[in-house]
Amino acid sequence: MDEVQVQEIAPLTLAPPKHASRARSRLITFVSTCPACGVQRSQNGYTRRAVARLLETLQTIDAYCVPCDVLWPLNAEERSAMARVIASGQDYAP
Ligand SMILES: [Zn+2]
Repeated sequence: MDEVQVQEIAPLTLAPPKHASRARSRLITFVSTCPACGVQRSQNGYTRRAVARLLETLQTIDAYCVPCDVLWPLNAEERSAMARVIASGQDYAP
């Protein structure tokens, strides 16, 4: 399968759709480790709907480290953790 990396997706600029149901338009929080500084960074710029869509379409989910100004894609393990969180209806991925 071709892996097309779409890096123009900026997590912090994604606006939740106006008419989405409340559950799907809730923001989801997850933690990913910055590859530059090695610190776990909390991410909360995605709605559940946006994450579900990215998972379904096999697109990159990006995490961001503010101090480093670095954007990186979640790895397979982190993506499956996100999928479990969404399926379970929770808002936070440890
Ligand atoms: Zn960093």
